[in-house]
Amino acid sequence: MHLCAYGREQQPCSRCGSPIRRVKFMNRSSFFCPQCQRKRSS
Ligand SMILES: [Zn+2]
Repeated sequence: MHLCAYGREQQPCSRCGSPIRRVKFMNRSSFFCPQCQRKRSS
């Protein structure tokens, strides 16, 4: 598992260049890239 977005805030993903988003989950802040975390449904 590669966390390309972990520890980054308001920075472009180093993998795809998309803006990193921060979400709060269980009293913890998590960073994720909407592109890299995106499910492939097609
Ligand atoms: Zn990404």
